[in-house]
Amino acid sequence: MVEIRQPISIKEAISKIMTQIVALDAENVSLSDAYGRILAESIIANHDVPPFHRAPYDGFAIRSEDSLGASGNNRIAFRVVYSLGAGDWMSKELSHGEAVRIMTGAPLPQNADAVVMLEQATEIDNGFTIRKPFAALENVSLRGEDAKEGEILIPQGRVILPGMIALLATFGYANVHVVKKPVVGILATGSELLEVEEPLHPGKIRNSNGPMIAAQLARLGVSSRSYGIMADDFETCLVMMQRAIEETDCVITTGGVSVGDYDYLPAIYERLGAQVLFNKVAMRPGSVTTVAVLNGKFLFGLSGNPSSCYTGFELFARPALLQMMRCRKPYLPYTKAVLMEDFTKANPFTRFVRAVYAFDGREATVTPAGFNKSNAVTSIAKGNAFMVLPGGTRGYQTGDKVDVLLLGVEDGDAEWQI
Ligand code: AMP
Ligand code: MG
Repeated sequence: MVEIRQPISIKEAISKIMTQIVALDAENVSLSDAYGRILAESIIANHDVPPFHRAPYDGFAIRSEDSLGASGNNRIAFRVVYSLGAGDWMSKELSHGEAVRIMTGAPLPQNADAVVMLEQATEIDNGFTIRKPFAALENVSLRGEDAKEGEILIPQGRVILPGMIALLATFGYANVHVVKKPVVGILATGSELLEVEEPLHPGKIRNSNGPMIAAQLARLGVSSRSYGIMADDFETCLVMMQRAIEETDCVITTGGVSVGDYDYLPAIYERLGAQVLFNKVAMRPGSVTTVAVLNGKFLFGLSGNPSSCYTGFELFARPALLQMMRCRKPYLPYTKAVLMEDFTKANPFTRFVRAVYAFDGREATVTPAGFNKSNAVTSIAKGNAFMVLPGGTRGYQTGDKVDVLLLGVEDGDAEWQI
């Protein structure tokens, strides 16, 4: 007898996963290895930036009070007593009418409070003249104007991007506290599957899901370990699953989660004693996506159909892994766009159509990326987004505004209201 599965909503499925996620520990990595990792601590300014008043231009540092009354008819002269380059320091104070030649980035003398730019000065022997008064702090890059000591600049949970590397370097983080990365095992099941390099045989197809999942993981900065291809055989799959679970933090399988004669994953979860969170989701493609947990380790059972597999990964495995890595924004970025094709046939399940999202500067549009059955492989290659068409009694027409999830962008805030 065929097992009847009760579908749950996508939102419920995500929430079942997210509430069980246990965050990974943190580790220290050197700054040069920190790019793309997730911050396990907030970046707090441990000193003012800049750390001293400095010259933003090449020119002359003066005491602004000495420039009072300067005009075209009443040029005021300054004597240059010293020259400061970036990296120099002058502890002696300026006396009345004295100035120092100063280069961009150099610290102002203690009692100087304005910088005359080179083009604002007329050079004379031993100095220069000016023809306008300077206000206190004019042309000065102020201590702490960029960041104040103690300020929280970047909260933990953010992916470290190049600008943040600059900030970490500014504050002397030779080592950065980041969240550990999970190692994910990938196992493709199916007696029809060939390795990529094998020639086609009648009845066989190449394993495209395994390499695809490895790349989807790599896009998140997550490493994977391939456990190859398993024929549809209970014992073989069970043994390999046990090994993968032992050796990794999370296992993703493709294929074998349906109710067909050779779909062994449900029986394997049972034998392993894994808690199945769900095995049917009200979505197309990927309705048979199954997620189970064994001793805190997640087992994602994605469908073998390439489009379903791809979708199941992005909707369920991606946020789970990002949450494990304590990422602040684990969900795909969400936007809206105008539908460019009719979908008149109503569907009871929410559809995730592989699509091309485009913005021409005036209007955002979304167009199906081609053949979009669950077994399609071409549309996942052509698309850069999912258009989300909620299930129900109505279809969708060209011109409708529809929800869109963007793929290949590193963080987002869809939060699953859709
Ligand atoms: P299954 O989920 O095992 O019922 O497989 C559904 C469909 O996806 C079948 O047509 C399989 O041949 C195909 N399929 C399964 N695994 C893969 C894979 N790793 N790569 C490409 N296609 C696959
Ligand atoms: Mg199969």
